Amino acid sequence: MKTHWKKLTNPDYLGAYSLAGENGYSEKVVVIESVRQETVTGTDGKKEMCMVAHLVNEKPMILNATNCKAIAKVAGSSFVEDWAGVAVTLFVQQGVKAFGDVVDALRIRPKAPMPPTTCDRCGDLIAPAFKMTVPQLIEYSKQHCNGSTLCASCMKAYKEMQDAQKQKEAANDSESS
Ligand SMILES: [Zn+2]
Repeated sequence: MKTHWKKLTNPDYLGAYSLAGENGYSEKVVVIESVRQETVTGTDGKKEMCMVAHLVNEKPMILNATNCKAIAKVAGSSFVEDWAGVAVTLFVQQGVKAFGDVVDALRIRPKAPMPPTTCDRCGDLIAPAFKMTVPQLIEYSKQHCNGSTLCASCMKAYKEMQDAQKQKEAANDSESS
C-alpha cells in the first residue's frame, strides 16, 4: 500500500502530534494571522497545493475542507480575508478514517473559544480546581452556588457560609421544638 504524504507527520506544520501530551491530547486556542493557498512539500518531497493557515506564534497548519468550514463558522464569513485575527480552538479527533487508514486528525472547533471567565464575587480568573476543568467548574458553581459563577476559593467560602447557615437553622429548629 502506498502512503499518502498527509498521513505522515510533517514537522513543518501543526498536526495531531502538536497537541499530544503525557495525558493524551490537549486543546489549544490559536489566533489566525492569514490563510492562503500555497505549495506544501511533504516529508517525502511531494508537492501539493493546500490551504494553509498561518498562526500567531505557532507553526502553520494545513487546512482541509472540514477545518475551513469550521473557521468560516467561527469567523462568521466564508472569505479567507476575514479570517485574520480570528481565534479558534484546535483539538484532535481520534480514529478518523482517511486515505484507507485510521488516523488522529487535527481539527478546529466550529465554535468560538470560550473567553476567559471571571469570578462573580472576587473578579479573579476562574482556573481549574477540585479535579474539574474550567467549564466543569462553572457548571458546578452555577448548580451549587445559586446560579453564580464563582472561583474555587469563593465557592469554598460560599459553601462554608451555607453550612454555617444550615447549622444555625438546625439549632433554631431544635430550640423551637
Ligand atoms: Zn472568587
